[in-house]
Amino acid sequence: MAAFFQVEVGLLSNFNVLIADEKIHTCAVVDPAYEVDRLLREAATRGWRIETVLLTHTHHDHTDGAEEMVRATGATVYVGAGEAEAARKAAPSAKVVPLAGGERIPLGAHFIESLSTPGHTVAGTSYLVDGAVMTGDTLFIGGCGRTDFPGGDPRLLWRSLQTLAALPEETRVYPGHDYGQTPTSTIGWERTTNPYLLCKSEDEFVALRTGKNPPRPNKRT
Ligand SMILES: [Zn+2]
Repeated sequence: MAAFFQVEVGLLSNFNVLIADEKIHTCAVVDPAYEVDRLLREAATRGWRIETVLLTHTHHDHTDGAEEMVRATGATVYVGAGEAEAARKAAPSAKVVPLAGGERIPLGAHFIESLSTPGHTVAGTSYLVDGAVMTGDTLFIGGCGRTDFPGGDPRLLWRSLQTLAALPEETRVYPGHDYGQTPTSTIGWERTTNPYLLCKSEDEFVALRTGKNPPRPNKRT
């Protein structure tokens, strides 16, 4: 089994996730930002070696700590191919591996599968490992990413959400921000409660996502 440890960092409620193979003590970190020393400490406490940085996309709040993390650990950075340049700018010391989707990234005895999930950004990527998926800003608990930043495309986001919704219903969802009523959820729960996944068609989704008052998750407090 892979082990997951979710940390909320910074002022934008970003989630960072450590994913470890506990037998081999090797570890990947998703979207390191703002509190790298805390991530390093949490990994060290558990005896986990950070060897891999997985970027879901290259908005600043997801890459802010990438360079510091690479300098501290020598980790390799994985990112959607269309955002490899942005990742190199964010982490100039890193070996950056561009992903097209469908790659299997080794993590000890496990593999992390990349899923191409553009729409919030041009080359948004989700990561699937051991029954859990890291969805970045593509899918939130009770919500989904914005499409009005440069590179955003609501029709692409709809298709990416369909890719995620097709995962087994028990798949655990780890989103990029703490915007929902719970920090994580499952694909099955999102499929039946998330207003964006309840849309019956691409056009209905686009109207909802780009309308004047798009639904927002109800934060628990
Ligand atoms: Zn973003």
